[in-house]
This record gives sequence, C-alpha cells and structure tokens, in this order.
Amino acid sequence: MTYIFDEKIRIGISACMYGAKVRYNSKGYEMMGYLKREKSNYVWTPVCPEVMSGMGVTRLPIRLTGGNGHDFWEGKVKVKNKIGRDVSLMMKKGAEACFETLERARVDAYIFMEGSPSCGVYRTTLRNKRLGHPPGVFGSLLLKKGLFLIPAQDLQSPVKWWDWRRRLSAFVWLKHRPMSNLNELYDTWHTLKFLSQEIDEKFARELGKKIADFKIEPPLNVLEDIRWQILNTLRKPSDVKKVKQWLWKNYTHLKKHEGIELESVCPPEIYRNMTNIVDEMITVEREVKSKDILFGTSPIIYSPRY
Ligand code: SF4
Repeated sequence: MTYIFDEKIRIGISACMYGAKVRYNSKGYEMMGYLKREKSNYVWTPVCPEVMSGMGVTRLPIRLTGGNGHDFWEGKVKVKNKIGRDVSLMMKKGAEACFETLERARVDAYIFMEGSPSCGVYRTTLRNKRLGHPPGVFGSLLLKKGLFLIPAQDLQSPVKWWDWRRRLSAFVWLKHRPMSNLNELYDTWHTLKFLSQEIDEKFARELGKKIADFKIEPPLNVLEDIRWQILNTLRKPSDVKKVKQWLWKNYTHLKKHEGIELESVCPPEIYRNMTNIVDEMITVEREVKSKDILFGTSPIIYSPRY
C-alpha cells in the first residue's frame, strides 16, 4: 500500500531566501518563485538570526574568527564584523531567538542559505571553497536539532527539488510515526528500504540484515536508534544517475507485479532532460496513489489536505 502524508509540512527558511531584503547589503532572493504553486503546500517560517541579533539592515558583514559554528558555541571562536568589532553576544542572542521561533512553529525542516557565517550548514552545490567554514552559528544549532536541511540553491533545479521533496516527505512521516514494536519496525522498513538503498546501499544492506536477525522484541531505545539512523540517511541527497536507475528498477517491479504500464517512463540509458525525468516520476507517483500501491522510489506521497 502507498502511504499518503496529508498534514502540511512546516519548514523554516533563511528570510533572505524567502524574498526578504535582510542581507547585510539590503538584498534578498525570491527562491520561492521556483516552487510555483507548490509553495502553498507548506507552512513557512522565515527567520533571520542576524536581524534578530539587533545588527539591523544595512550592517557590516560578519565573519567567524578561525573556526566554525560548532567552535563558536564551545566558546573557541568569536564573530566579528568587518571593522573588527566583536558581535558574538548579539549573534548568540539572535540565533537563540530564531531557534526558539522555529521550535514554537514546530518545523521539521529548514531551507538555508549556503556560505553564510550564520545560516550556512554544509555545502552541496557551491564550488567556491572560500565562502566560510560551515556550519555557521545558526547552522550549528539546526544540525544539533536534527532538522531536515535543504540548501536554498537546490530549489532552482526541478530534479534536485523533487529529490529533496520525496525524502522530506519520508523523513517527516518516519519522524512522527509510532515505532514501538517489531511489527511497526518491519512495516517501516518495508516502506523505506528501497529509498534507503538508493541513497546508501551499504547502510541499507547492513540495517536490513540487523532487522531480519531480531528474534525477540527489541527494547525501545534500539528501535529509536534505528529510527534516527534511517532519518539521517534520508537527509542525504541522491544523484541524477541513481535517481534514473532506481526509478527504472522500481518501475519494472511495478510493471511485473502490479501490471502498471506507463509509456512515458524510460530506461536509464535513454538521454532526456531534467524536466522529462521529473515528469516521469510524478506520473508514476500519481498512478501508484490512485491504485494504492507502494512505489519504492517515492514511498510516501505528499498530498496536503488544505
Ligand atoms: S543571517 Fe541568514 S537569513 Fe539573515 S541574511 Fe544572513 S543568511 Fe539570510
């Protein structure tokens, strides 16, 4: 059966990526435009730790002195502005205020601006290695909180966004799902194993073996540890090559066992552009949703109710 996640997913976002002109130079970027109508499928909470620090717009750019955001929270490095003024305390208060807001808003995910000494988390798409030492001050808190973290740049690519979205749906579903006995664990793993294999084959093979070897009910802490291992795996991006291969593999499984036949789905060796690949995947998602069948590539179909 296919699982449909129908609660609106709540996402925090760096305010400057939501179109707010809050960067040090009073600039902002309207990244939401790339999502088009899909934007209304989510509840958004934009925050800006530098504005909440009280530094204002416009302000001098800031930098971490020598380390990253983790070092900052351990008191090993400071945040200074361009003329060398120590703004560490302001930055700490701003980051904590935004973090509290995200907790109140009950967000499960955050879209961050890459390269920022505040909101940066890790770099997945930018090539310029000189842009700071991630994570930033706020990024460090986001990582510790265990949120699903999406680089804002990836909203521009239909395939990357599709990959983030299907993993986000699976992540939120798993995070809030009861998993207190072996049957619930089996059901969870049956639903997520194909996507886990696509992302990290070695991890999935080892976890599958561990789950199969359980002879008695595992204690709750073991089940919770497995949940966190799968959640961590779902945070990692796939790539276009793997997406195409697994789409074909899971589709041929559906064709053989469920009689689903869709002309638009192509084998991985056929060249097609990103938009075509996304269209193929959305076509299969629609088909499995209407027939209530599990599709390993997109095991949790996100379909908000209102
Ligand atoms: S602190 Fe974050 S939200 Fe504010 S301008 Fe910098 S990157 Fe954007």
